[in-house]
Amino acid sequence: MIKIFKFGGASVKDAEGVKTLANILQLNKSETILVVVSAMGKTTNALEKLTESYVKQGSDVHQLFGEVKQYHESIMNDLFEDRDHPVFDDVANIFIEIDWILEDEPHPEYDFNYDQIVSIGELVSSRIVGAYLNSIGIKTQWMDARGLIHTNNNHREGKVDLEKTLLAIKGIKETLKDQFIITQGFIGGTSENFTTTLGREGSDYSAAVFASCLEAESLTIWKDVPGVLNADPKLFETTQVYSHIPYIEALEMSYYGATVIHPKTIKPLQNAGIPLFVKPFMQPEESGTRIDGTPDFDRSLPAIIVKKEQVLVSIKSLDLSFIDEATLGTIFSSLSAINIKINMMQVSALSLSICCDYNEAKLDRLIKMLSEFKIRYNTGLELITIRHYTRADIDKIISNRAVLLEQTSRNTAQFVLK
Ligand code: ASP
Ligand code: MG
Repeated sequence: MIKIFKFGGASVKDAEGVKTLANILQLNKSETILVVVSAMGKTTNALEKLTESYVKQGSDVHQLFGEVKQYHESIMNDLFEDRDHPVFDDVANIFIEIDWILEDEPHPEYDFNYDQIVSIGELVSSRIVGAYLNSIGIKTQWMDARGLIHTNNNHREGKVDLEKTLLAIKGIKETLKDQFIITQGFIGGTSENFTTTLGREGSDYSAAVFASCLEAESLTIWKDVPGVLNADPKLFETTQVYSHIPYIEALEMSYYGATVIHPKTIKPLQNAGIPLFVKPFMQPEESGTRIDGTPDFDRSLPAIIVKKEQVLVSIKSLDLSFIDEATLGTIFSSLSAINIKINMMQVSALSLSICCDYNEAKLDRLIKMLSEFKIRYNTGLELITIRHYTRADIDKIISNRAVLLEQTSRNTAQFVLK
């Protein structure tokens, strides 16, 4: 049976990380594994900046690109003693493609430029990791995910064509028989052979698509945390690892904004009944978290999910008439047209309040579209969701902060806070 291992950017942020990855594969040498990697460290952010500057024809284009190149060169220098190793040329050739893009005028569609430039992060990362594995005797075949993950041409948010993708991925089973395959997360290709990306943090989703198409035994996401925690350790002092989470609970958590797993990841796995392991990269022998279809779940541990940079929008009709179904219909069509995702909402007699991620451009559009309403909004807020809460949890977490809106159901409590 095939296993899928996914390593995120934090796992391959330096030579040490690449060596740890190699060690994990060494420990699993007898298994059949397809490895999905993200771009190294913060490369995607750096390439996003580069794209922005290129489209504006900024003066720092070459400097920004130089930094990305240098970062990868220094990792290669740490990994390969032999300066004539072919990986140096391979990587240089991938970077040359960006040079060519940068010499040309930007394409009129921003997101097209984005995908051609930002995808390079994953291509280079997988090249370096694959070459390193081969250099230490772990037989690995590099594969270009753009020929496997087929998408439509919706740049930056490519929608995977599952039928075509399944057909392509099935064809790689033979190759997996006597070697590992290394490929990229986050990127795909269109039928015209243009590169697409699947949305930020989309590598988990790519890995899930590979798992489902290969009818894998499991998917393991290797992370720099001990597993799925009940709260973000950057925000809370004490956190605990869930040993088991049912798919449905994982879906709920990612819906409310838990960032440990990309929201789109669970569905393909759930449909195929493939378990997902979230394991600590630095302690590969630890069991981490198992996510699957069995229902047991530790409800005594509240899951705390914090979403920052929220805006609370209050919508009233100008003539102070009631918010009825027809009015809601108008408002929701506008929200849907602008693609505003509601994180929490409440209807009262005269107003509708919605909490969503702050996006200035989208908010401006909403105000224009709903000109027959009076719209007020409050930015810089935080939305805290607590699943499986007790009163004591709420008191402790919210303590004396100003609550602008709150909602509790049997399992979930949500608070919009200043
Ligand atoms: N490298 C991409 C990102 O940082 C995809 C991923 O890491 O999942 O968004
Ligand atoms: Mg990442």
